[in-house]
Amino acid sequence: MIDLAFDREHMWHPYTSMRNPLPVFPVVSASGVRLKLADGRELIDGMSSWWAAVHGYNHPVMIRALEAQLHKMSHVMFGGLTHEPAVELGKKLVALTPAPLNRVFLADSGSVSVEVAIKMAFQYWQSVGEPGRDKLLTVRSGYHGDTFGAMAVCDPVTGMHSMFSGVLAQHIFAEAPPCRFEESWDERYLADLKEKLLANRERIAAVILEPVVQGAGGMRIYSPHYLKRLRELCDENGVLLIFDEIATGFGRTGKLFAMEHAGVVPDIVCLGKALTGGYLTLSAVLANDRVADGISGGPVPEFMHGPTFMGNPLACAAANASIELLLRSDWQGKVRGIEAILKERLAPAIELPGVADVRVLGAIGVLEMKQPVNMGKIQQRFVDEGVWVRPFGKLIYVMPPYIIGSEDLNFLCSALLKIAAE
Ligand SMILES: *Cc1c(COP(=O)(O)O)cnc(C)c1O
Repeated sequence: MIDLAFDREHMWHPYTSMRNPLPVFPVVSASGVRLKLADGRELIDGMSSWWAAVHGYNHPVMIRALEAQLHKMSHVMFGGLTHEPAVELGKKLVALTPAPLNRVFLADSGSVSVEVAIKMAFQYWQSVGEPGRDKLLTVRSGYHGDTFGAMAVCDPVTGMHSMFSGVLAQHIFAEAPPCRFEESWDERYLADLKEKLLANRERIAAVILEPVVQGAGGMRIYSPHYLKRLRELCDENGVLLIFDEIATGFGRTGKLFAMEHAGVVPDIVCLGKALTGGYLTLSAVLANDRVADGISGGPVPEFMHGPTFMGNPLACAAANASIELLLRSDWQGKVRGIEAILKERLAPAIELPGVADVRVLGAIGVLEMKQPVNMGKIQQRFVDEGVWVRPFGKLIYVMPPYIIGSEDLNFLCSALLKIAAE
């Protein structure tokens, strides 16, 4: 039995209080798209454990790959040593991302990869003799993680870190991309960002944002054309462009990477979450030669970062197995199928009095409510209905594992509609 009293008294959960925390549900195992609770109930997973578990749980191929690596070595330091799982992963990532992104830095989590990307941008400008470029430009409604560098580019209000604003680096925020995914382009959509970039052109090291889909900062989905024009604007002004593909990477939006919707390549990209299929924590930063050569040609040619668990062999083995599994599957067909069902089933929700907006792209479905949901109540209701969905603020959203069958997905959608109606 899981000691829930101890958990309640001593264990901090994500974004929770130690005083009267909302109940947590004890899970004892997971398989396919189902989470099994301690009382024997099974829940259909609508979250992929926060975008990560794209193949579902306990996949035999993943287990075999991890077991095999476990018997060789779980971990060795990456300083002065190298190993097959890391090099193999590097090859895969270089091959899968657009050609200019060919220098790979492995890190431990999404937030840390954002720190690494930001540090690369600042060290690049130090190295090429423009240390005055000490600001980042980003858009509102973004989410980039919980660490200090990442928090400083999260939305100042919806990014969950507003109380820290006094101790964070002060960066420049433009309005969130105002154009929906399918909307035809109007140059005014970029006007605010353009104005802020031009007004601070000597101070800005990089623009950082999530391409096409903004995750935990608001679950907004915007036109890829925005990224096309942004790339041109960055080029015209010499500013670096960083894409945070931690949530969108590895097929979630219907393309392997969301940047492919726009045909745009950033100077630096962050990957995480689904990188290991949700089996272990790992992230990667890929940079182009401009960034790598700039840093390496500077007065301090070493890139000044190196976490203890960098390139963890077990995590790299999980990533290699997950990527192979993904590429060998018909993931495009699967994601398209999920998108079709989400579109059809969630569209009617717009008629519900509490629903402000419905958005679907790839294997992502979002109901934006008019009022923030009551977390304690709604979480329990989803569990009662036999599904695992974890809303936040006004957002009730799902991004199920790609392996979900249409029957389970329809079940999930029905629960979503029923509870949104309540
Ligand atoms: C989850 C997320 C992060 C942070 O990743 P962690 O692994 O939680 O540190 C950063 N950016 C985006 C877009 C994310 O979705």
